Amino acid sequence: MSKRDYYEVLGLSEGASKEEIKKAYRRLSKKYHPDINKAEDAADKFKELKEAYEVLSDDQKRAHYDQFGHTNPNQGFGGGGGAGFDGFGGFEDIFSSFFGGGGRRRDPNAPRQGNDLQYTMTITFNEAVFGKETDIEIPREETCDTCAGSGAKPGTKPETCHHCKGAGQLNVEQQTPFGRIVNRRVCHYCEGTGKLIKEKCGTCGGAGKVKKRKKIHVNIPAGVDDGQQMRVSGQGEPGINGGPAGDLYIAFRVRAHEIFERSGDDIHLDMPITFVQAALGDELEVPTIYGKVKLKLPAGTQSGASFRLKGKGVRNVQGYGTGDQHIKVRVVTPKKLTDAQKKLLREFADLSGTVPDEQDEGFFEKFKRAFKGE
Ligand SMILES: [Zn+2]
Ligand SMILES: [Zn+2]
Repeated sequence: MSKRDYYEVLGLSEGASKEEIKKAYRRLSKKYHPDINKAEDAADKFKELKEAYEVLSDDQKRAHYDQFGHTNPNQGFGGGGGAGFDGFGGFEDIFSSFFGGGGRRRDPNAPRQGNDLQYTMTITFNEAVFGKETDIEIPREETCDTCAGSGAKPGTKPETCHHCKGAGQLNVEQQTPFGRIVNRRVCHYCEGTGKLIKEKCGTCGGAGKVKKRKKIHVNIPAGVDDGQQMRVSGQGEPGINGGPAGDLYIAFRVRAHEIFERSGDDIHLDMPITFVQAALGDELEVPTIYGKVKLKLPAGTQSGASFRLKGKGVRNVQGYGTGDQHIKVRVVTPKKLTDAQKKLLREFADLSGTVPDEQDEGFFEKFKRAFKGE
């Protein structure tokens, strides 16, 4: 069975935008999902759909598919190449039946979207929690001003490549044990652009693009978390042949805080207290991201006990409420005691005994059983 064209599977044309691809996939996957659709071929259709979406939603895979179709030029009958077989009829059929799918023709002069760019931005804990407006400088390719992107020396024009007649692709015939095979590959004379530049632009060396550092204003959203990314539409690399620019993706890395630890929108804090505070209770001053708050510590608090300050966590980046702050207290046993302190503690021990409340007889029974391996 020959493989269907991925665009056809999604019911789209070749120039479909990312948004259109996503929408078509969502709509069709609901229609063909095997849990919903009980038709015999639904599972196959769903698989086909998934595969098409995986390729077309990935910029690199899509560009590759647009150029080579279902074939993988790195496999099979690679190597060789050179002579052009422009206009050689009949080869396409052999090609199709052998590989189970046609190579796709791509017009090298058609407008194409520029590449997306990825930028990693390291921010502080507080910048992530409260957001920040800032400027970043990203290195990216810009259209060359000298030649306006043509790559040709001012006053000259790129010519149509006579090897591929402007198609950007060549059919390469090979003799194999299976017969004659035609492979379509990128024209190496013009590198797939369909154009040849006789006199190259001195500024960009014929590339039509130059690397520049571009300043971009970024509004870091309050509540953003480590590993999340933000899309800045149209700030990627410039489009090709007048196509739209790609997008810029900013991935956030959030530096750890000295005392706060974040987990989603909640914040965790370890709070050391003295054993006297734990025993007698106290009113603690606790730091939160919004400033100090008072926390009433009840008498008889155990080490490891947890308290919650509702709404003192991070405001959700998408506006879904606010997290809490959790405080875990840790009773610190004093390491250095003066003679006077030791004396008082011994007096305390004489009054209260040396066995903690929880070490009752049951505890010692369990303790003994643990040693016997029961
Ligand atoms: Zn060419
Ligand atoms: Zn130039």
